[in-house]
Formats: sequence, C-alpha cells, structure tokens
Amino acid sequence: MPYVYDPQNIFARILRGEIPNRTVLETAHSLAFHDIGPQAPVHVLVIPKGPYVTYDHFCRDASDAELADFARTVARICEMTGLQPGEGGLGFRAITNAGEHGVQEVPHFHLHILGGRPMGRMVAQSG
Ligand code: 5GP
Repeated sequence: MPYVYDPQNIFARILRGEIPNRTVLETAHSLAFHDIGPQAPVHVLVIPKGPYVTYDHFCRDASDAELADFARTVARICEMTGLQPGEGGLGFRAITNAGEHGVQEVPHFHLHILGGRPMGRMVAQSG
C-alpha cells in the first residue's frame, strides 16, 4: 500500500515558508520548531524536510543521509533544550503518532520531544 503524501498539510506549508514557525534548529534535511500548542514546558517537533507521512514511511524510504540527519537533530534538540539525561538534564519523552489508531493529526512525519516536567504514564489506559 503506497503512502500518499498531501503537499498541503500544515508542516509542508511551514517547510515552504507559507506559515511562520518558531524554529529551534534547521539542518540540511530536518527542521525543529516549537509546537503551537505545547503540552509541556519544552515541546519541540522534529520533522524531516522530505515528504514522509509517518515514522515507518520515513524509516522505510528515507536516504541514509536523511535518517542520520534526523537522528542527530533529535540529539541536538535534547542538548539545546537541556533535557539530555546523561548531561544533567532530567529527561524527556519522544512520541510519534501514526495513522488513525495513533491519532495522527498532521500527515507529515514528526517526532514530539516533550520535557521540563514529569511526563506521567506512557499511554492512557483506555479510550
Ligand atoms: P499529531 O497529533 O499529528 O502527532 O501532532 C500534531 C502537532 O502539531 C500538535 O501537537 C499541534 O499542536 C501541532 N501543530 C498543528 N498545527 C501547527 C502549526 O501550525 N504550527 C506548529 N508549530 N505546530 C502545529
């Protein structure tokens, strides 16, 4: 089943500069910016610049350069925001929602980096 990327999704529009964002870091293949509705004191979204719908889509089809750039960007965001548990920070939660059961709202792969407070249980027990 092919992934169908919607080029009008909100993150595609952010990448094209049609909608403003609060950028934390931009690299050759990735963009990190503050979530518009933060769920924690730190809530940064890391996205690839390429047209990937979900995490598994990205992991399957991205180039090695894109994959490496994304992973290094995540590490740099944890460092820049002071969340790195190995470096004196108090840790973080990384979440990616995919598809209907993942309750994904924006169909451009993104990783939520959340921290700055205890993040509670990993998932709701029902609903
Ligand atoms: P999802 O539910 O797809 O995993 O998360 C989408 C996230 O994108 C939400 O946390 C939402 O607050 C964020 N978001 C939606 N529209 C915008 C926007 O225009 N700018 C920014 N910075 N974040 C957005």
